[in-house]
Amino acid sequence: MNSRKLLLLLVIASLASAFFALDLGRFFSLDYFKSQQAAIEAYRAAHPGLTAGIFFAVYVAVTGLSLPGAAILTLVGGAIFGLLWGAVIVSFASTLGATLAFLVARFALRDWVQSQFGVRLKAINAGIEKEGGFYLFTLRLIPIFPFFVINLVMGLTPIRAWTFYWVSQIGMLAGTLVYVNAGTQLARIDSLRGILSPGLLISFALLGVFPLIAQKIVSAVKARRVYAKWPKPKRFDRNLIVIGAGSAGLVTAYIAAAVKAKVTLIEKHRMGGDCLNTGCVPSKALIRSAKLLSHMRRSPEFGIRKAAAEFDFAEVMDRVQRVIREVAPHDSVERYTGLGVDVIEGAAKITSPWTVEATTAEGARTLTTRAIVIAAGARPFVPPIPGLEEVGYLTSDTVWNLRELPKRLVVLGGGPIGSELTQTFARFGSQVTQVEMAPRILIREDPEVSERVTARFRQEGIQVLVNHRAKQFVAENGEKILIAEHDGSDTRIPFDTVLVAVGRVANTTGYGLEELGIPATRARTVETDDCLQTLYPNIYAAGDVAGPYQFTHTAAHQAWYASVNALFGPFKTFKADYSVIPWSTFVDPEVARVGLNEQEAKERGIAHEVSVYGIDDLDRAIADGEAHGFVKVLTAPGKDRILGVTIVGEHAGDLLAEYVLAMRHGIGLNKILGTIHIYPTLAEANKYAAGVWKKAHAPQKLLAWVERFHAWRRG
Ligand SMILES: Cc1cc2nc3c(=O)[nH]c(=O)nc-3n(C[C@H](O)[C@H](O)[C@H](O)COP(=O)(O)OP(=O)(O)OC[C@H]3O[C@@H](n4cnc5c(N)ncnc54)[C@H](O)[C@@H]3O)c2cc1C
Repeated sequence: MNSRKLLLLLVIASLASAFFALDLGRFFSLDYFKSQQAAIEAYRAAHPGLTAGIFFAVYVAVTGLSLPGAAILTLVGGAIFGLLWGAVIVSFASTLGATLAFLVARFALRDWVQSQFGVRLKAINAGIEKEGGFYLFTLRLIPIFPFFVINLVMGLTPIRAWTFYWVSQIGMLAGTLVYVNAGTQLARIDSLRGILSPGLLISFALLGVFPLIAQKIVSAVKARRVYAKWPKPKRFDRNLIVIGAGSAGLVTAYIAAAVKAKVTLIEKHRMGGDCLNTGCVPSKALIRSAKLLSHMRRSPEFGIRKAAAEFDFAEVMDRVQRVIREVAPHDSVERYTGLGVDVIEGAAKITSPWTVEATTAEGARTLTTRAIVIAAGARPFVPPIPGLEEVGYLTSDTVWNLRELPKRLVVLGGGPIGSELTQTFARFGSQVTQVEMAPRILIREDPEVSERVTARFRQEGIQVLVNHRAKQFVAENGEKILIAEHDGSDTRIPFDTVLVAVGRVANTTGYGLEELGIPATRARTVETDDCLQTLYPNIYAAGDVAGPYQFTHTAAHQAWYASVNALFGPFKTFKADYSVIPWSTFVDPEVARVGLNEQEAKERGIAHEVSVYGIDDLDRAIADGEAHGFVKVLTAPGKDRILGVTIVGEHAGDLLAEYVLAMRHGIGLNKILGTIHIYPTLAEANKYAAGVWKKAHAPQKLLAWVERFHAWRRG
């Protein structure tokens, strides 16, 4: 906290202390006012403007400094100035005072509170940013929340000061009127309790609930408006139609069938979507074969002088297809039909909020449904680089068709998909150049993660070119060349095959979204609210098509919310919870993360401590010949609360599970440290990282006393 903030807090604390030390509170009692009422009224008759000014200033000071007495002052306002002027003066004075208190809290404490509790406050901040005025209005109408608390707490949130001002003024008006009116009858009131009768409290509570009811009404009106031009069927053939049978669509349909809804799943290409056919499954199968080769090359490290590998790339790719075929029954039409899902193999098009046209080999038919979940996935993004179309390219969709190993491969993109495929092809013997325009690969991870992966890539013979922007592709004398810009000059990279892996873009066109006017976000995903609801309250989206993450496990996670909200929405909806999202990049060394890393914590100004355990010191890693990498844990300063974990090393993704569980259920490092981990396993690294944290927080003073105790015992 800087000195100006500290000074302000000191001034306020001194004024508040003076208030209590001098017992100024005695002037803010009904008895005192009643004893002085005649004199005050006489003064007001002689100096009406000055009386109003003094009253206004005192009111602002009391509320601005969050001192007790505002309720009595409001009554006094009514007694001195009558209902109209009393209400006007109190309304402005209380709002101004409240805004001052709000600004003090914002100036002095907000940064600190947000840095300490930013992660926990994320959802509240987002809610306030979106509907802050609405929350505040509700709080203002319910007088059981002390106003000074509301002023201070709101100052710590992102609500705009102007919004705070005007919502407070309007929200407090009803209460102000009630109190000022009561003040006009002051002679008959003996205590504040008389004003807050149960009847009045119920009226206030009703007033408080009013905005919530109003919000429901507004949502219903909005919904009516979007549905207005669409004829609604009298009855529906099914409860739910799911578009796309990838990770999101399959889980959505599974849950719907499990809760006995009538659900239809429509898939136009291959059951299992991206993950099974062109994503996780084939990539991990290919990585496995490549890893075997890498181990064989490293055989002398393991005491085996020579291990020769002979392979045909086509056979490796055939194995990849075999793996897909082996996993495929999990996602098959037969399995889902058996689970009670009506599966249609065809293309879906939303023709109204309640109808979907399914086109199959037999023709098109229209199905009616109460709700729809869009799970249409994403596809590789291909940037419009001059010459790319002409030279031809592979993407993560088409690379699996290769049967011949490219001799010289250029991989465009340093993200997870580009990096996994770069290393894999290099291990098979392709001469790979990875081109990334950012300053480093795996840019979302901490710099030392990128450094370690880059170092390994280079060690394995990969040319990693960062800060290189692919500018143009040309073919010269039968040779393909990528021209990339680097530091203002051009680099020429000859190659045989280029693989484009620069990101993925959601599938949002060609199946009715444009006709229904369902908007897309700036990230070009389908726009949804926190409950995954689109513009139409009965149409939801999940998975890559909705973002913000593009993983199989997040698609499945969202699917639960989409299906439950779509089926039970009128009664209860759930906001998708993204508080603990893990992921892994399956390069070697493997990289896994959950929650914050250091670069994000710094960017977002979140205070944190870092504990790092080097896996190079771990017995099992040494025995396995994989003594490299680290476990890095971010914790809240001085607290046993995990903010995030990054693991680099062998089986990092598997190791991370313990921390994912810990974060999800609020388990701290002390508990991890107090848990037996099997010796010798890689999982011990998690415990040792907790040990690093514990050591840094050892109670040094207490230990010094304990040392003295032992010395005394020794005599
Ligand atoms: C190379 C690669 C490796 C990956 N590795 C991992 C990994 O290791 N771990 C991980 O978690 N994630 C990984 N992913 C990401 C993961 O594959 C996706 O996040 C996941 O598949 C998204 O699932 P989804 O259901 O949203 O979309 P998809 O799986 O893309 O499914 C969408 C389906 O909708 C169908 N569809 C679209 N429009 C229509 C229509 N109009 N009518 C009918 N059907 C339609 C499509 O044909 C498709 O089958 C990887 C991705 C790639 C490309």
